[in-house]
Amino acid sequence: MNMLNGKTALVTGATSGIGLAAAEKLAGEGASVFLTGRRQDALDGIVAGLGPHATGIRADVTDLGDLERVAAAIQEKGAGLDIVFANAGSGEFAALGDITWQHYSDTFNTNVGGTLFTVQAMLPLLNRGASIVLTSSNTDIKGVAAFSVYAASKAALRSFTRSWAAELADRGIRVNSIAPGPVQTPGLTGLVDGPEAAEQLFENLAAGVAMNRLGKPEEIADAVVFLASDSSSFMTGAEIYVDGGASQI
Ligand code: NAP
Repeated sequence: MNMLNGKTALVTGATSGIGLAAAEKLAGEGASVFLTGRRQDALDGIVAGLGPHATGIRADVTDLGDLERVAAAIQEKGAGLDIVFANAGSGEFAALGDITWQHYSDTFNTNVGGTLFTVQAMLPLLNRGASIVLTSSNTDIKGVAAFSVYAASKAALRSFTRSWAAELADRGIRVNSIAPGPVQTPGLTGLVDGPEAAEQLFENLAAGVAMNRLGKPEEIADAVVFLASDSSSFMTGAEIYVDGGASQI
């Protein structure tokens, strides 16, 4: 335990699901954690539970002013930044033929633009040896009906991982991504309307996973802690599939 003592971390999309689990595990390993999301009430409750080494900042990843405020708050703490978990993201189903510009721009602005401008805003703060982890998805290498725009946005993050790893190696900064399979989170439930439809979706998704079940947010968070820590010191430009074998077998 406490392998991240003295480190400062930023987790975007930390108000629920995978981001929340990662923020809890990073804090549990001793890191000071800045958590962001758009819902102030959720942030307040989570930060109160995590204790004095957690700071919540309401911020939308599609808003450059918000990202600058986050950077200013981290700078004020005075220890730089060691871990960026750029995780905020969302998706919705839309089949080819029904895709609107709004669907396209909402998905790409949040998942691609939000990740890009989060990392860019934090760049001046990053300490030598820092680790950047992006949340992609196993859809970045799979064809998924009615989910093509989301999948393409995550494939863009896979590409960013490689390019940024090349750009930042000289600064001793590593860049990797995680590719979760279906994970039981509010984001997954929100893809469909109502509990019955959610149960049906979970069943269908689990059937496509070699381990025959959905993942838990904590199982993804464990991979994030690994990539954030020196345990992965010889990894950069890589992606870890945490998907119960769904994309591999
Ligand atoms: P979730 O429970 O809905 O969490 C999404 C988080 O992102 C929330 O904290 C939300 O916070 C935040 N967020 C969304 N849009 C934002 C914005 N514009 N600005 C700032 N924060 C924003 O979903 P999740 O499943 O944990 O998803 C986390 C990441 O994992 C996403 O990138 C998702 O694409 C990826 N992923 C999920 C799965 C899965 O099956 N669950 C699989 C592969 C990849 P607020 O609502 O407070 O803004």
